[in-house]
Parts: sequence; structure tokens; C-alpha cells
Amino acid sequence: MKTLRLYWIDPYISQFKATVESIMGRDVVLDGTYFYPQGGGQIYDTGTISGLKVVSVRREDDQILHTLESEPTFQVGSEVECRIDWDRRYKIMRLHSAAHLLYYSMQEEFGEECKPASPGLTDDTKSREDYLFKEKPDPLRLQRVEERVNDLVRAKLTINTWSEGETRYWKIDPYPAMLCGGTHPKNTSEIGTVKVSRGKKPGAGKERIEITLL
Ligand SMILES: [Zn+2]
Repeated sequence: MKTLRLYWIDPYISQFKATVESIMGRDVVLDGTYFYPQGGGQIYDTGTISGLKVVSVRREDDQILHTLESEPTFQVGSEVECRIDWDRRYKIMRLHSAAHLLYYSMQEEFGEECKPASPGLTDDTKSREDYLFKEKPDPLRLQRVEERVNDLVRAKLTINTWSEGETRYWKIDPYPAMLCGGTHPKNTSEIGTVKVSRGKKPGAGKERIEITLL
């Protein structure tokens, strides 16, 4: 059966009850979950199910599998108490939306050819994305990008996310909508001030741009 992706309905829920649909070794499938599975450039959530640590979460077709630290003591059909590590998840949400603000700011500063080369990865410490660059970016221009991102944070813009069929969208006005299945805060002000910097060079013609929360 398809796992209900409740994290799209309310990304602020960090404690919930669910029914166990199936168990395969240390992997547990629930009827619905607020745990985000790795994907779309966002790391999986951690937390507990019935007090047992959730060490990773992944999606396989229509099901979301929570991998526990040890084999569960509960059975299929049991109602379980679930908790997401909220401090970690909230940082991921803020950094993921910051990565979207970075995209618009990079386009404005460096032009449309400056695109992400891959989906990147956002975890609770930073967001990293590899952008296509013909030459080394001028540090002053990167500083301007950081200022633009922080201007968008201070502008307190409403973040809208919605589904169209299986596709999820993310949008702030006046920018065009972006495809994104991640979890996000409701307003850019929640992100707080961020730092934009160059990371380790990922290869020729690319630059890694990292965002951290201050
Ligand atoms: Zn995204």
C-alpha cells in the first residue's frame, strides 16, 4: 500500500501516531508518515518510532521505509508513537528554502547560464549545490549574492508549496515556481540570516556554493 506523505500536508508536525503496515528486518512501513525520505536534494529525517532510533528513511516506489537502529519489538498492525528530531529537521527546512533563494540570486547576479549542475544536498549543517561556472567567481559578486538572499529573507515573503498530481511545487512572488518535493517553512523570515560561501571545487567548469545558517 502507498504510504501517505503527510510531511507535505504539514511540515511542522514532529510528533504523531501511525499504524505499522509492514516490517522487513529493521525496515518499517507506516500507513502515513511525517518523516521525510532522502530525495530531491534533501537528506532524510531522524527521530524515533516507539522509542527506537530511526537511522535513515528512504522511498521505494510508493512506500516509505524507516530503518531502525535495531529490529522492532512492535508488530504489523501496532499503533506506534513517532517523533522527528525537530531541531535537525527545522534547520534542514530553513536551509532548503535558502537554497531556492540562492538559485534566484545566482541567476540575477551571474545570468541564466549559471545553473545548478546537479540537485545538490541539504542537511542540517549546510546546503551545497554545484553551479556551472566558466571562470572562478569574483568574491565580491558572491557577496552580492549573499546580500540578495538575505534581502529575500528580510522581505518576509510567503512560501507556497502545492501538489499537481505527483508533482510538487515551491514558489515565492514574484519569481516563477520551482519543482520541489522537500519540506519548507511558511515564510522566508523563518530562514534567518545566512552565509554564502565557496566550497571545495567539485571539478572543471563548476563551483560548489554553500549556505550555512548564522
Ligand atoms: Zn528544493
